[in-house]
Amino acid sequence: MCYAIPGKVEGIVGNTVIVDYFGEKRRALNELTQVNVGDYIYAQGGFVVNKISSSEAESILSLWKETFFRLQEVDLKLSHLQLKDKDVNKVLLEILDKASQSNELTRQELLYLLRLEDKRQLDLLFKTANFLRQKYHKNSCCVHGIIEISNYCIRGCQYCGISHYNKELQRYRMTKNEILESAQVAVQEYGFKSLVLQSGEDPGYSIDELADIIKEIKDKFPTLIFISFGEIGIDGLEKLYSAGARGLLMRFETSNPKLYEGIHPGQTLESRLKHIKKAYEMGYMIITGGLIGLPGQSKEDILNDILLAQELHAEMFSFGPFIPHPYTPLSGLNPADQREVIKVLALARIIDNAHAKILVTTALETLSREAAKSGMLAGANSLMLNATPIAYRPLYSIYPNRAHQSEDIVFQIESTVSLLRSLGRAPTDLELI
Ligand code: SAM
Repeated sequence: MCYAIPGKVEGIVGNTVIVDYFGEKRRALNELTQVNVGDYIYAQGGFVVNKISSSEAESILSLWKETFFRLQEVDLKLSHLQLKDKDVNKVLLEILDKASQSNELTRQELLYLLRLEDKRQLDLLFKTANFLRQKYHKNSCCVHGIIEISNYCIRGCQYCGISHYNKELQRYRMTKNEILESAQVAVQEYGFKSLVLQSGEDPGYSIDELADIIKEIKDKFPTLIFISFGEIGIDGLEKLYSAGARGLLMRFETSNPKLYEGIHPGQTLESRLKHIKKAYEMGYMIITGGLIGLPGQSKEDILNDILLAQELHAEMFSFGPFIPHPYTPLSGLNPADQREVIKVLALARIIDNAHAKILVTTALETLSREAAKSGMLAGANSLMLNATPIAYRPLYSIYPNRAHQSEDIVFQIESTVSLLRSLGRAPTDLELI
């Protein structure tokens, strides 16, 4: 979004460019033909998105210069970690000390952290995760936009409000023109550099139609495109990659095959994982993760989920709470506890401290207003804003009362920028060199 800083290309090695942001060097993949050393570019999520003129870049950079270093100081203060002399139990301090030095924790130690309940102990866990986030990612953060293009779905996921179980829901499918218009507004008016296109599993669009839409967005409004259309088949993934999609958002939901099959009638975890693995092999960046608070889900399951996301090469972890929807078979259950979800974000950061981005999901924000801030202070460094036309948003009812459902995009951007600034975060989400 408009919270973005252009970088200067300092070096090019094959299809990798080295980008300078006020003296910090970062790396991005480049697929544009006309990029040379000395050019200014916008890059996000590891990819060069577009090139801008030197005069435009220099005027934006002069506005950012002071802010950039001030934000770094704020972040450094907020992520300071003091484990010594803490009056909490010794076992916990030893585990957190080991984690803070980036030593791998044993499975037992990770489960110990996942089972913490005491507020003071949890605060220390969250602080350790935030310290590791700062140590490896500095104050970088990324903000994607999501456009929910259709709420039709042929699947019967038992927790999901847009599954075919929900006969009460008014269905919509955006036309090609509506999708292009939403992408144009998001990219050109509001400066989003990365968009997720999402829908239920909707055979109402053919793969060729989706490819056509992606190609046209890429041609007209340069942006990094993630797809999230469910299991579209390996051929489908290939076609959409060729059309220009570079990321896949697909959660495996749970790593426990029995639990998976119980809540996804007629589907298998194996098939879901095959899509994610093949997509990674094709070159897609992977956003994956699961639902926290599913019926019968154990702490061991949750730990396995985080480890599976890492094994699947997640560029970004996406773990959010299960929130019951009244028109689904799981309507009678309780929503997940916010603290449990934030624990997962912190554990994800401890397990994969150097590489992955960690998302604060809209579902987590739905549990409480403070959740985005709490998540960002417990290891997370990514947010997603809703760029779906406002009239359609209530219909993309995967769970009730979704956060940001009725907020226009300007309001979402303003409140996000103000949150990020208060936390000292800056939009330079490329890998540090
Ligand atoms: N069809 C695509 C797919 O299969 O990945 C994307 C759409 S699906 C509705 C997007 C995500 O919504 C799912 O991965 C699931 O984790 C989440 N979701 C669905 N129902 C939910 C609920 N009741 N509570 C929280 N998250 C939910």
